[in-house]
Amino acid sequence: MARSFFARNALIIAVLIASPSLFAQEYDLLLKGGHVIDSKNNIDSVLDVAIKDGLIAKVAANISAESAVKTISLNGNYVTPGLIDIHTHSWVDQPHMLEHGVFPDDFTFRNGITTVVDAGSSGWRTFPEFKEHIIDHAKTRVLAMLNIVGSGMIGGTAEQNLSDMEAEPTAAMVLKYPDLIVGIKSAHFNGPEWLPYEQSVKAGTIAHVPVMIDYGARRIERPLSELLERVLRPGDIYTHMYSGHRGEQDSQTGGPGKGMREGRARGVIFDVGNGSGSFSWAVAVPLVKAGFLPDSISTDLHVHSMNNDMKDLLNVGDKFLALGIPLREVVADMTWHPAREIQRPQLGNLSVGSPADVAVLSVQHGDFGFQDMYNTIYVGHDRMICSLTVKGGKVVYDLDGITGDAWDSPPSSASRQAKRWTTLTSERGFGTARPTHQNKAVQH
Ligand SMILES: [Zn+2]
Repeated sequence: MARSFFARNALIIAVLIASPSLFAQEYDLLLKGGHVIDSKNNIDSVLDVAIKDGLIAKVAANISAESAVKTISLNGNYVTPGLIDIHTHSWVDQPHMLEHGVFPDDFTFRNGITTVVDAGSSGWRTFPEFKEHIIDHAKTRVLAMLNIVGSGMIGGTAEQNLSDMEAEPTAAMVLKYPDLIVGIKSAHFNGPEWLPYEQSVKAGTIAHVPVMIDYGARRIERPLSELLERVLRPGDIYTHMYSGHRGEQDSQTGGPGKGMREGRARGVIFDVGNGSGSFSWAVAVPLVKAGFLPDSISTDLHVHSMNNDMKDLLNVGDKFLALGIPLREVVADMTWHPAREIQRPQLGNLSVGSPADVAVLSVQHGDFGFQDMYNTIYVGHDRMICSLTVKGGKVVYDLDGITGDAWDSPPSSASRQAKRWTTLTSERGFGTARPTHQNKAVQH
């Protein structure tokens, strides 16, 4: 008497079999046919990247285009983890320090960047305010290094105030916000004392985070070699490595000084931090030729550097392509290497289960002049362009509109499910639906 399951459900089954797409859309977004560079996983080849629920779901050859709500064909492009810039200044409208920081979203997605580290705008007294004003509002992932100065980077005498450089409250603030604070920063100190660096390292030791040093004024009382050979720990970061301001270069050979070499041998990390006055070809060329390459490439973006010899992160990366460093290394210096330096192993890679932060880059060929702080030029022949950026599984930037529908065609099924794969939906502005194009209404 019991009718079979199949007999009762024959019509439903027939419909499902006739509609394979109902089964097929396993993924939200598929980046197809790009050349994937993922240093953590040692990938440097053409592969497809599938994304679901904001995470990397699969990286493999020939993932079916039908398996995703939206498939983007990326032949001829490079697909990399979302870029990480570990030296930026993000606190726009900072009290007592106006016209310094740049709001993160202004320079990030259009450059393939999905994560920035604010390097010391706030100290332990001001971090909650920085979080409230910037971190909580940016679409970019904003992490922070706390300034060892309690009042933060507000210029003038405040940054020289030794009595406001205290390891314990700084470490306590790091431990209060472990998801957001990734290190300690010392910057712009002019005095002869070691205290700012010793307190930074002490705070970093208590809170288990690295310190980043902008070594301020050059002082014979605290030579660079001693900082790199004695004070800093393995994993601590020396930024502005090619400035030449503090004895980075050996005066005899032109290559890296003894302190730089010994520091690297001990495990100190060397970061670019181009900025407006911290990158000199006369230093970078001989150091790179001597094999002293960066561990990470960063901008030191602020309002005074953003239109200077430093344009943006890709422009700084281009300088190292010009110096002959392979693209896969330059990408590593903007992805997996900085992720490791700030102890965020879930970032800067395309492992299955990692946040789906992705940059799509193309490389333009020509004759390009790259500037340094003295407006001297090094000519290179490659320029990276960001075509597309994905953050948390959704397209957040699309330079040439490769993800959209033609304006005069009916909405695609992908656009009807836009919330699964893009922030560039029709449901912005006043929430109105896309008007339907009607040929007969067009006046000629
Ligand atoms: Zn800086």
